[in-house]
This record gives sequence, C-alpha cells and structure tokens, in this order.
Amino acid sequence: MKFISFGSGSSGNCYLLSSDDDALLIDVGVGIRKLKKHFADYGINIGTIHNILLTHDHADHIKSVGSMSGTYHIPVWATDLVHKGVTRNWMVKKKIEPILAKTIEKNNKVQIGSFEVMAFNVPHDSSDNVGYKIVADGEVFTIITDCGHITEEMGPIISDTDYLVIEANHDVEMVKNGPYPLVLQSRILGPNGHLSNKACGEALAEFASSRLKHVWLCHLSDKNNNPAMAYDTVVDILSSNGISVGKDFELTVLKRTVPTE
Ligand SMILES: [Zn+2]
Ligand SMILES: [Zn+2]
Repeated sequence: MKFISFGSGSSGNCYLLSSDDDALLIDVGVGIRKLKKHFADYGINIGTIHNILLTHDHADHIKSVGSMSGTYHIPVWATDLVHKGVTRNWMVKKKIEPILAKTIEKNNKVQIGSFEVMAFNVPHDSSDNVGYKIVADGEVFTIITDCGHITEEMGPIISDTDYLVIEANHDVEMVKNGPYPLVLQSRILGPNGHLSNKACGEALAEFASSRLKHVWLCHLSDKNNNPAMAYDTVVDILSSNGISVGKDFELTVLKRTVPTE
C-alpha cells in the first residue's frame, strides 16, 4: 500500500491510499486545482482513483468532493447521514450527483475495488463521522480523524493495524490559554470535539501491537499545537510505557498544507 497526505487540518484534508492496481481518496477538502497539481507532481493518473471515502461533512473534509466526483465520475462512499449533511452544506458549491453517491454502513465490511473497507463510529460534532479500517495486499490501514474521544471499539481496531493515521489535534493547555472564545474551547475539548496530543499518545500506548509499523499524526491545530509539541508529547507517553519510536514503529507528523513523501 502507498499513502500520501495532500493536506491535514482545518484548512483542508485529503489522503490517497493506493494498492498495486487501485487507488482511493479519503476526504476531498483540498481545492481541486491544488489537488490536480499535486497529482501531476507525484505522477498520479487521476484515472487510477476509482473511489472516494468521506469521514464526515465538515467543509475541511468535503469542500471539493462534488467537483472531484462529478468531473472524473468517481463514486463517493459515506454514511447516509454524511451524504445528507453534504447536500445541506452551503460551502459545498457543487453537490455529489445522486448516481455517484454510495451509502456505507458502520461495522459492515464492503469490498470497494481492491480494498476491503469497514467504517466505524468516531464521535465528533458533525452530522455523523466514521473512521475506516482498510485491508489491501494483506495489510491493514486505519484512519481516525476529528475524534472527540477514543471509544471502546477503537482499541481492537488500532491493535489490528499495520499503518495508522490518528488525530493529534491540540495541546490541552494551549487551547485553555489560547485565542479561541470559551464556547469554541469547550467544543474542541469536549467528548465530540478533537483528540488531544495526550489522548492520542495514551491510545497508542494502550493499543499499539507488534504489527504496527507506521503512525502518522494528523489534523494538527494551527493555533493550539505545533509539530514538535505533538511529536514530543506522543513520544514521551510511549517511552514511559516502554515503547520506542523508531524501533517499535515509525512516527510522522503530517503537515497541514504540504503533501507528504
Ligand atoms: Zn476537520
Ligand atoms: Zn470535523
């Protein structure tokens, strides 16, 4: 499997996952012109992208989904509630054509091209939100983003993963002492908000298994976090639990607007 992040955070999220003979996008919150440039830079033929998966209906994840899907005739998979949310969202100028809208149900494995995909619930203050556990070429890739808190069902999913993208949105003290109004602070810190660096590190310490090879920290806040702080917080928690980054698994912080290797 190959994984590329084209953007991660409140200014736009879009990830590409490809196997030997197939590729899909997870979220399309980056502008289509920028994406086309990234595809050209990476030598990605848009014709190899056969499906789009959506996590949830916040603009930073869906802004360009209608134009991407419509222009290249790519089906879009999301829960029924997320599809309805996309239809209502005024920030999505071009809607998903009904014929390209595919409904996915939580905790139900579906074969989407070469990928076996299972959506699972992720608590967040959108219409609905899911993470994805995706199997291809015998390996497991999991993404958990915009996650208010780690649920019981996520533990075994994290333990059964080779490659994990997980949110490390903020440092709790930076939120409390930061520029955001109180109502927004409590939204972010609440059970349906975003995952802190500490909660992310604790989840990894508790559930990472020996099969885990690489973790990417995603959706970092611009105002309430920075890459070094996210990385160090997670590494500290892991090392105090006897897990050594670089030896047990690799850890990478995804940049907000710059694509990965
Ligand atoms: Zn988001
Ligand atoms: Zn969100």
